[in-house]
Amino acid sequence: MLHPIESRTIRPVAAAPQPAPSPSHDEDNPWHTGAACCRDEAGLFFAPSKEPTAARLAREEQAKRVCARCPVLLECREHALVQPEPYGVWGGLTAAERRVVLARRRRRDVELREAARVPAARRIAG
Ligand code: SF4
Repeated sequence: MLHPIESRTIRPVAAAPQPAPSPSHDEDNPWHTGAACCRDEAGLFFAPSKEPTAARLAREEQAKRVCARCPVLLECREHALVQPEPYGVWGGLTAAERRVVLARRRRRDVELREAARVPAARRIAG
């Protein structure tokens, strides 16, 4: 999927307050229609090649500030985690931060499976 900034029409950064998005999103009303980011901010969300670390950190912080005021942050973040989207800031998380979240989810899933198996094994043994 295109990043929300690429899939929407241009909207000024300082746009008038928008109505709250519908809590349900469907084919006619996809979640990214409520995105706070806009095309003229595209450079904030994706790294140019050979970007120095200090510049990258500053750019990512700016992108995260846009995400922080976004009404569809959670939908965007979950989309980027589930795909997974390998590049750019989505839902207030960098690609590296998403990898950490995914690793934690995998660990949690393993622990939950293990926890579910242990009592079953004890019932069989007991
Ligand atoms: S959370 Fe960030 S990247 Fe996602 S739609 Fe909102 S502003 Fe854009």
